[in-house]
Amino acid sequence: MHPDIEKVLFTEEEVHQRVKELADQINRDYAGTEVVLVCILRGSYIFTADLSRYLTVPTTIDFMSVSSYGSGTVSTGAIQVKKDLSDDPAGKHLILVEDILDTGNTLFALKNLLLHRKAASIRICTLLNKPSRREKSINADYVGYEVPNSFVVGYGMDYNEHYRNLPFVGVLKPSVYGGE
Ligand code: 5GP
Ligand code: MG
Repeated sequence: MHPDIEKVLFTEEEVHQRVKELADQINRDYAGTEVVLVCILRGSYIFTADLSRYLTVPTTIDFMSVSSYGSGTVSTGAIQVKKDLSDDPAGKHLILVEDILDTGNTLFALKNLLLHRKAASIRICTLLNKPSRREKSINADYVGYEVPNSFVVGYGMDYNEHYRNLPFVGVLKPSVYGGE
């Protein structure tokens, strides 16, 4: 535990077990195919690292960092590429690895961008899904857990760049971000 955490949603052991199950699904679905794991920085760095170690299909890793245009925490639909892929995705089978699929604005725009660059196929693997918040019609092909609309940190996910290193997924105390 950690003093700023209200409750643990998924323990380190639970997350590892679930990540292995997702990898097993990917191994079955992509048998005979080479995949590119696209780690969407920064939130999915731990998830990508763990997932990749359970994959047995031929796998390469690439990294991308994007941010939503617009102010504050509300994503607006358009994205800005802050760090682009190192390799050309044309003809490749991509799996976009994301920490949380929330409004869907980020992944909707990113998927379109990469389709435009002629990726052979694109699937989405997200650790957490908040379907109640969706604004764009986009779904993940691989989902670790569906979660309600509370702000979570840990296992790569941050608040103001902190808490990424917590090994579990937890809900932050509202007092930490100026709530009651
Ligand atoms: P969206 O789907 O709204 O375009 O963007 C989703 C992104 O918002 C996630 O990848 C994540 O970076 C951030 N996000 C959404 N909900 C949470 C949350 O509960 N905790 C944290 N740390 N980030 C979140
Ligand atoms: Mg993210």
